[in-house]
Amino acid sequence: ATGDYDEGNIFARVLREEIPSKRVYEDEWAVAFHDINPQAPVHVLVIPRGAWRSWADFSAGASDAEIGGFVRAVGVVARELGLEAPGYRLLVNAGLDAGQEVPHLHVHLFGGRGLGAMLV
Ligand code: 5GP
Repeated sequence: ATGDYDEGNIFARVLREEIPSKRVYEDEWAVAFHDINPQAPVHVLVIPRGAWRSWADFSAGASDAEIGGFVRAVGVVARELGLEAPGYRLLVNAGLDAGQEVPHLHVHLFGGRGLGAMLV
């Protein structure tokens, strides 16, 4: 990870189990848990175990095994939650313009209702 990763951010604390979360999945590379303020019937966050702020940070610094493990975990979670057939949306906010609130990389997974067509 880069030098300015904040070890005190909320998801770092979720990873260390200093604050509770409703986990739906975990493996060597990733942890998934319900968003505290869900925007859809299914709103899960998938995060890498490593200390990465953003997709760019992660892709620049993480090993191929870590990147592969994390990307695979996102797919496993979508499938295990039964979303493959009805469908789902993945979203990543990175940095100020995207309104990223928590500076630990997270993929939002939305499902459980029609989500409509959307680009931004
Ligand atoms: P961002 O805007 O950074 O992409 O999204 C941060 C997400 O984290 C938001 O959807 C917010 O509801 C969620 N969140 C913030 N704090 C907590 C928390 O303490 N626990 C959980 N489970 N989700 C959180």
